[in-house]
Amino acid sequence: MTDDPFENMLAQMDRAEEYADVDHGIFERLKHPERTLKVTLPVELESGEVEVFEGYRCQFDSARGPFKGGVRFHPSVTQREVEALAGWMTWKTALVDLPYGGAKGGVICEPKELTDRDLERLTRRYTEGIRRMIGPEVDVPAPDMNTNPQTMAWMMDTYSMYEGYSVPQVVTGKPLEIGGTPGRVEATGRGVSLVTERLFEYLDRDLSDATIAIQGFGNVGSNAARLLDEAGANVVATSDVSGAAYDPDGLDVAALGAHVDAGGLVEEYVAGDLKGSADRSRWDDPDAITNAELLTLDVDVLIPAAVEGVITADNVDDLRASAIVEAANGPTTVAADEALTERDVQVVPDILANAGGVIVSYLEWVQNAQEFSWPLETVNAELERRIGDAFDKTIEQYDTKDLPDLRTAAYTLALERTAKAHEYRGLFP
Ligand code: NAD
Repeated sequence: MTDDPFENMLAQMDRAEEYADVDHGIFERLKHPERTLKVTLPVELESGEVEVFEGYRCQFDSARGPFKGGVRFHPSVTQREVEALAGWMTWKTALVDLPYGGAKGGVICEPKELTDRDLERLTRRYTEGIRRMIGPEVDVPAPDMNTNPQTMAWMMDTYSMYEGYSVPQVVTGKPLEIGGTPGRVEATGRGVSLVTERLFEYLDRDLSDATIAIQGFGNVGSNAARLLDEAGANVVATSDVSGAAYDPDGLDVAALGAHVDAGGLVEEYVAGDLKGSADRSRWDDPDAITNAELLTLDVDVLIPAAVEGVITADNVDDLRASAIVEAANGPTTVAADEALTERDVQVVPDILANAGGVIVSYLEWVQNAQEFSWPLETVNAELERRIGDAFDKTIEQYDTKDLPDLRTAAYTLALERTAKAHEYRGLFP
């Protein structure tokens, strides 16, 4: 089996084809992105040096509506990865029934080594590089790994300066002051928490005191941890690139959140070197473990919320979690997936589990189009309704068609919807 995320996505599609009511010709079409642009980005850094970066924007499929997908800044970005992520966005927007296609962008860089000024210049240069292919009705970027509301503000400003007027609708995940929506920052984590609650209801199990390990404590992982903690679950382990913290009695999620928000690393938290307003009096003395050990903890739910390809044929036999909720995109390779299906480990697939972000991005885009803003309660209620509905439809598909696993159920729904759009639209020219 391969480590290539694009091959992994194709293999997931192939697993679903046998059960999906999709014409084979259209199915083959769906395996190819519409287009990918590669851009060269020379940037004068604050140090005075000129560094040449490389970036991509892949537009995978637009049969159901404008392209939609985040932008990632990471040293391991590749064209194949961006294309896989754009494919997953296509299946995700179809599964949660948003009027969008799928896209993704990425820039090969190590944000930790860049100043804020460098990041601004890089973001603006990247936006200039892809600006002819994006637009509110065409392709709407959003944040992903190492990009945030400030990144979106720079993208929106750069695009708007070229247009000659403000175009908030060109990106989502913006700061509130320039057309962002309440609830977007925590939307993906909230969705992860909601589907975990739904999964427990479906399995007729009690979430209170269920043990949870979360790999990655960034935007998605930290918000999922906070909301699951509030829902009564027991978050016993989490991590970042520096390492993992484990306390079988449960971590102090609020203290860890304050520490990380102040720029602290998980390994510093474990060592007691707390940053910002993190409260030492609630210090819970966790042990230091590795990211690899976190994945194999004996917990009720494992939530990978960092990078793709972490659950593989090499470690799947050591995994002891009874359920997996995929907050990250593509965390499980197909070989590992088959082993988990055989062992009856329920896996809520990424295209469902982390769809909260794109759902609230859609709600932001709609508010921008209406030039009207909704209160947080309306946004959260609409998120819950939409992700809950997608969860129920996935379960219905899984049960009524007696499918091997939830991923196959989610993929058959997404592929059928996208294929139907292609069928109605036909081939032109
Ligand atoms: P982030 O940059 O805010 O956080 C990433 C976290 O993962 C950090 O804690 C980082 O230290 C950790 N990490 C990075 N590389 C790691 C590694 N090799 N091993 C262990 N930990 C590592 O990113 P995010 O926005 O939270 O995104 C996390 C995942 O969720 C990604 O797969 C992303 O594509 C997916 N996702 C994000 C959103 C969103 O709205 N932000 C939406 C859908 C899916």
